[in-house]
Amino acid sequence: MRNLRFDNRFVRELPGDPEPGGHVRQVHGACYSRVMPTPVRKPQLLAWSPEVAALLGLNGADLRSPEFADVFAGNALLPGMEPYAACYGGHQFGNWAGQLGDGRAITLGETINDRGERWELQLKGAGPTPYSRRADGRAVLRSSIREFLCSEAMHHLGVPTTRALCLVGTGERVIRDMFYDGNPRPEPGAVVCRVAPSFIRFGNFEIFASRGEEALLGRLIDFTIARDFPEIEGDPATRRVRWFEEVCRRTAVLMAHWTRVGFVHGVMNTDNMSILGLTIDYGPYGWIDNFDPEWTPNTTDAGGRRYRFGHQPQVAHWNLWQLANAIYPAIGDVQPLEAALLAYADIHERENRRMTAAKLGFAQWQDADGALVADLHRLLQDGEMDMTIFFRRLADVDAPSDAGPVPARFADVFYTQDRRAVVQEGFAAWLLRYGERIRQEALPAAERRVAMNAVNPLFVPRNYLAQQAIDAAEQGDLSLVEELLDVFRRPYDDQAGRERFAEKRPDWARHKAGCSMLSCSS
Ligand code: AMP
Ligand code: MG
Repeated sequence: MRNLRFDNRFVRELPGDPEPGGHVRQVHGACYSRVMPTPVRKPQLLAWSPEVAALLGLNGADLRSPEFADVFAGNALLPGMEPYAACYGGHQFGNWAGQLGDGRAITLGETINDRGERWELQLKGAGPTPYSRRADGRAVLRSSIREFLCSEAMHHLGVPTTRALCLVGTGERVIRDMFYDGNPRPEPGAVVCRVAPSFIRFGNFEIFASRGEEALLGRLIDFTIARDFPEIEGDPATRRVRWFEEVCRRTAVLMAHWTRVGFVHGVMNTDNMSILGLTIDYGPYGWIDNFDPEWTPNTTDAGGRRYRFGHQPQVAHWNLWQLANAIYPAIGDVQPLEAALLAYADIHERENRRMTAAKLGFAQWQDADGALVADLHRLLQDGEMDMTIFFRRLADVDAPSDAGPVPARFADVFYTQDRRAVVQEGFAAWLLRYGERIRQEALPAAERRVAMNAVNPLFVPRNYLAQQAIDAAEQGDLSLVEELLDVFRRPYDDQAGRERFAEKRPDWARHKAGCSMLSCSS
């Protein structure tokens, strides 16, 4: 571990807050504040990702050393680490919220691995910073498990995401009022070490625009391009435009992936939007069980449902508008920004069609597929069918012999018999049309099945599975966290003996806290 090499460009090349210490304040004219993690009572390594450890060049001896838990709990620093919290703002639920910043995340440094890749190591839950506002800078075990498991699962699903190296218990309790209903209780605390090439968010740019700090805005843009988008070429002005186009493109691709796998972020505020187009800040996120574009897991958003499943691509577009507004002073021309925002819609549509076609086993999207897909979505929703299981079963359909009443293989796709009865006829008719459509495909059924199963996951971190792992972990049993991490390593493969992790949400979980509804109280 001592051979981790650091090259901390963010703090080296950008201006920092001259004021020392972690007391809460407004920070002007700076991209970050240097702040040390607050040590915890009893660091204990609870889980780790072997892939991320390998990515960083860490070996088994490193992971087993007591120093490892100390460093990744925030109790010790390695040579070369220079901890800081970033300053950013954001639009929360559609309103400008002013300065937010890393209130409980502390970056330890930027490490360079053997392949020359840059990976920022960031602790989440490491104690107060100047950006903690009225909160404690800590994170509870339940939300840390959710971030750790889901971010690694997302990676293996092929969805751009921040990663997680490890989960460390703090041996301390954290008080949380889980549903903001006047019932605070002490919960076990934890720290996750997140890993990404950069944790810069839309909000890092917005804060400078909102304060009229235009020189700093330009510096941060040029720094981001130079460090994180080195492939972008051209003169400085052209590069800034191409960079925004690239942010729009990556965000469009990300939204199509979320739709493909059934992921609902839950808090798509602009401070939770990665400039790299990664899934970032796993809070009250959720996974679609029964297909429902209206669903949001976030109780804080239950009224407006701004961040519901089917609305995420539009929200991302709105967020990109805010970013465009923020960087306008550094571009000086509206036209290329508007063009990039228009292109977002086209790129998203193209990616969404491409991924939808692949989910259905079509080599190419055809115009008539729009109606077929719209009808399918209505059936999935009206029939309360499980999205994940449906697409796996669909891969087994052999055209055209499978037409007729709903085939037996779809029986476990439905959550209730009532709903099944409502859509049965329509579903059978749809399957006939689908059968005709796949007959136009050149691929033999067996190959189509393989292709479909490579884009339609069998295992996703369903909310109730994560909750089961959390319940056991709170009793000191980490075995389910470990097993789920392993299951989600190969989310597209049948895994003998692990069928239960591919089952639909059990009835008991339908309205249970943590399984169907979550709050930001993490
Ligand atoms: P979120 O929308 O949950 O990503 O967080 C919004 C803002 O609240 C960010 O600035 C976070 O750093 C901050 N925040 C969330 N939880 C805490 C906490 N426990 N302590 C300090 N700041 C927090
Ligand atoms: Mg956040």
